[in-house]
Amino acid sequence: MWRVIADYHTHTVYSHGEGTIMENARAALDQGLEVLGIADHGPANWGHIATTDLQTFDKIMAEARQVQAELSGLTILAGAEANLISYDGDLDIPPELQKRLDQVLAGFHVTIRPKTLGDGVKFAAQWTLGKLSAREHRKARNDNTKAMVEAVYKNKIDIITHPGLNISIDTSELARACVKRDTALEINAKHGVKSIEFIRAAAKEGARFAIGSDAHQPDKVGRLEPGLRAARAAGLHPDQIINVRDE
Ligand SMILES: [Zn+2]
Ligand SMILES: [Zn+2]
Repeated sequence: MWRVIADYHTHTVYSHGEGTIMENARAALDQGLEVLGIADHGPANWGHIATTDLQTFDKIMAEARQVQAELSGLTILAGAEANLISYDGDLDIPPELQKRLDQVLAGFHVTIRPKTLGDGVKFAAQWTLGKLSAREHRKARNDNTKAMVEAVYKNKIDIITHPGLNISIDTSELARACVKRDTALEINAKHGVKSIEFIRAAAKEGARFAIGSDAHQPDKVGRLEPGLRAARAAGLHPDQIINVRDE
């Protein structure tokens, strides 16, 4: 029997989620979870998706501690879903803040404010990926992979969120870096997994996975069924999934 013990990827009203930390926490307890991760978007996303500023994460940490003290039986990890903001692997959550957070998730979102104009041009190219020539597509894929691998080495990332969503990436190469840095790859239950092949390719390199709900509403917290199905279909063992136990 597989038992899900944690959902590390949930959003709250601090970015564009609809629930408070307390509401997500109650939902997590209802789902029988032991650990809830708060992973609000970093400040580089566009508009209402983003957190207002880096100070917001201090508020999230304080509130998470308070909610955890009020409820029993739930550990709350205060964290972020950071954005890749440059092709050199920089994140919009600086290393100093990464150290203070309980968890750092990081994802490649195309709709962000890039670090430099040059990075912006490359991010924008992702929008037109389908129209690129085979050669340009290959180059974009190389650039994306290199950027994510740099990010994995430059930062202390616990989980890479939805790898390959809206971008083209070399899964095996990213997985090899993640294995060296003890970074898990997410199987995202909200966006779905494009291919079981992605999981198989990463597993072959020895990668570990985290199944995340990417919940933006409390009633989605801990709802990991599509991710669990994909993990099973790919032949994963619970040992390979950091938030699942075999009981
Ligand atoms: Zn979001
Ligand atoms: Zn995301």
